[in-house]
Amino acid sequence: MCGACCRMPNGIVRVSDAEIARIAAFLGMGETEFIELETEVAPDREGLILKSRSDGACAWLTEDNLCRINPVKPDKCRTFPFEWVNSDSSEVCPGLKRNGEEKSIQHHGNRHEHKTGTKK
Ligand code: SF4
Repeated sequence: MCGACCRMPNGIVRVSDAEIARIAAFLGMGETEFIELETEVAPDREGLILKSRSDGACAWLTEDNLCRINPVKPDKCRTFPFEWVNSDSSEVCPGLKRNGEEKSIQHHGNRHEHKTGTKK
């Protein structure tokens, strides 16, 4: 894991109710406590997102580019860049530029829900 996607400028990680429940359980926290301490309202005010550090990186990214909640990380993290990308992801993700070729990107809706041409 290079962690580049976890440091994307203006990147956000939405979390569903089910994801909140599984992350909170993994951390030994109550869901309400997790929501209060570790999430904030999304910029578009549609749901909750994981908090970011002051440098913009995800709060759960370690200095060694590891995810502290890796076993239960949100689906959005699991599926990038195989099922979705942002319009600027190829500038950030080295995996999207293998052999100098970018994967084709299909744009669906807002910048956080773009899909790649490949799907697992
Ligand atoms: S939850 Fe983990 S994988 Fe997802 S952005 Fe944060 S550090 Fe990266």
